[in-house]
Amino acid sequence: MNIQCDKCNKEFSISSIDTEDEQLLSNNVTRYYISCPSCGEQYTSYFLDDSMSEIQQEIRRLKNKQELTTKQKNKLMRLTQSITSMNMEYMNTYKDILQDNA
Ligand SMILES: [Zn+2]
Repeated sequence: MNIQCDKCNKEFSISSIDTEDEQLLSNNVTRYYISCPSCGEQYTSYFLDDSMSEIQQEIRRLKNKQELTTKQKNKLMRLTQSITSMNMEYMNTYKDILQDNA
């Protein structure tokens, strides 16, 4: 997957970046992000807090199962959705701070 940097307009592939950097924000929230190899502009991948890592663990546990019951499938879907919406909330919460840092 390629993304184009908003700042320097250079394209780079996400897979060419080995590790995501992390930044500890307030309230035990960690922001994971990648940086443009050319200009260093930062792009947030996702946020993680304590309750989110618990949900992530549960998601991983369910995904490792060979076969899921309908109930488990629904649970997996619900958990995935809540992670997504929590991420979007954090994106909104920290939008202004992150732009100031850029
Ligand atoms: Zn760039």
